[in-house]
Amino acid sequence: MRSFILRAIWCGLLVLGLGAASSLFAQAAQQTTSQTATPVAAPATAQKPPAKPNDAIVPPPTRAEMLRGAYGPYRANNKLIYYHLDIRVDPEKQTISGKNTIRFRMLKDGTRIQLDLFETLKVDKILWGATALKYERDSGAVFINFPQTLRAGRVYSIDFYYSGHPVETGRFGGITFKKDPAGRVWINTACEETGASMWWPNKDQWRDEVESMEISVAIPNGLVDVSNGKFIGKTDLGDGYTRWDWKVHYPINNYDVSLNIGSYVHFADQLGDLSLDYYVLPEDLDKAKVQFAQAKGMLEAYQHYFGPYPFVKDGYKLIEAPYAGMEHQSAVTYGNLFKNGYLGRDWTGVGISLRFDFIIIHESGHEWFGNSITAADPADMWIHEGWTTYLEGLYVEYRWGKEDAIKYLSGEKAKVKNQRPIIAERGVNAEPDQDQYFKGALMLNTLRSVVNDDAKWWALLHGFYQHFKYQNILTEDVVSYFNQQTGMNLTPIFDQYLRHAQIPRLELLFGEEPGMVMYKWRADEEKFAMPVRVGTPGEWRIIHPTTQWQWMKTPLSKDEFQVATELYYVEVNKQ
Ligand SMILES: [Zn+2]
Repeated sequence: MRSFILRAIWCGLLVLGLGAASSLFAQAAQQTTSQTATPVAAPATAQKPPAKPNDAIVPPPTRAEMLRGAYGPYRANNKLIYYHLDIRVDPEKQTISGKNTIRFRMLKDGTRIQLDLFETLKVDKILWGATALKYERDSGAVFINFPQTLRAGRVYSIDFYYSGHPVETGRFGGITFKKDPAGRVWINTACEETGASMWWPNKDQWRDEVESMEISVAIPNGLVDVSNGKFIGKTDLGDGYTRWDWKVHYPINNYDVSLNIGSYVHFADQLGDLSLDYYVLPEDLDKAKVQFAQAKGMLEAYQHYFGPYPFVKDGYKLIEAPYAGMEHQSAVTYGNLFKNGYLGRDWTGVGISLRFDFIIIHESGHEWFGNSITAADPADMWIHEGWTTYLEGLYVEYRWGKEDAIKYLSGEKAKVKNQRPIIAERGVNAEPDQDQYFKGALMLNTLRSVVNDDAKWWALLHGFYQHFKYQNILTEDVVSYFNQQTGMNLTPIFDQYLRHAQIPRLELLFGEEPGMVMYKWRADEEKFAMPVRVGTPGEWRIIHPTTQWQWMKTPLSKDEFQVATELYYVEVNKQ
């Protein structure tokens, strides 16, 4: 249908014969400035195609999603400072009981705050000092009422006691009470999509992170718990249970907080000042010692591009888990079969993925993008996934050079669907679909070509990370930083890739004889303008198409004329 419309435009020009079209070409032929394309009037028939109903298949949010997703007044009136999650996990009964001590600063005077805990778990009591606080539950939200006004600027602390059996839900179950292949206890969490409040009480949103945290987990003697942060010590409680204490020295997302309880064995390594700790099932120790050696090269690559590993005081850990992998902060979980690729497969299908372990390279990349720099709303999660997928390409480039990196990233085109915009609706806990990964990475690869100066590009990436590390940001922050640092207006490019389903299409119209070509972008963003390399590989020439027709002279025929589509994620339509 689309090509039919353009054919009609071109045919329109031909039918006009010696009219408008031929004068256009005559005008073009008379001009000698072949290197700089000159705008010409757009053919009258070239109209913007109707917008696609991008969000037609997104169901409306539920009440629980609204309460989870909105940064409402009872969340906005306070800022988290500290959690101490102190729990006992019973593997037999599959229950958790204990408390989260929550310290926060009031930003406004108020008598009510919102925390979250799934309805499947019981609120035992909420204490403010010795005072039991009243609360109301609504879906997954817990609204807590104070008997007197909490004052702006003051710091308060409450103890939220809870218990129960968390019900498995979501892609990785949220929390699972499993057995390892040898039949021993194996309990793991992965609750990014579902929400951490499926297994512990917290302020379950993305905008506000605690500044630091302690995690204390009591489990039957003989088992090991690996959580986030630095291992502080373990204490025999004398009742058949041992408490494992971990300290997180940095801001952390709720969903990154993790339990890994099993018969783990431990081995360690060091990269400069950074401690590397690995926890695997005993049977996998030998395989892990070989496979996890890749972590050092990964860390070196990402440190090269962005600066030091973000959580040095907490160390870097890889922990075996019964699912593929998850970027739990400083405690990356790993279930990639100790094989290269993704579960042994060539992930991007171009013969490069099998050179490295996809889970080590991808999930650890989130330490920089996702854990250190975090999106302030799940709708902007491409800041985690698009960037980290791009980081895979950077790892390939660091190890094997630019050509392989471009090839690796181009292999991701086959995974993009272009059915919905990458940025989902904000404020309703809506997560973008899979395009945020591959299309996000391809957009960044495209921007590199737009900047067209690798030294500048590397400085831009490094500066961007350093500027926003440990912060929670939105897409607008990314775009304004890029605009400011490059001096370019990249907003229409970001908007086209992130806020519309379709990618830009370069329309090329050739005459009957070689000599010139007309070109423009077809894009949803009216002001979309992006330079692009065209012509012959190795002798690319940069043109600056907009959404208005321009022309250039070329000795190349329609078949010979190429567009550098591995450097720019665009469609091309030659007519
Ligand atoms: Zn990821």
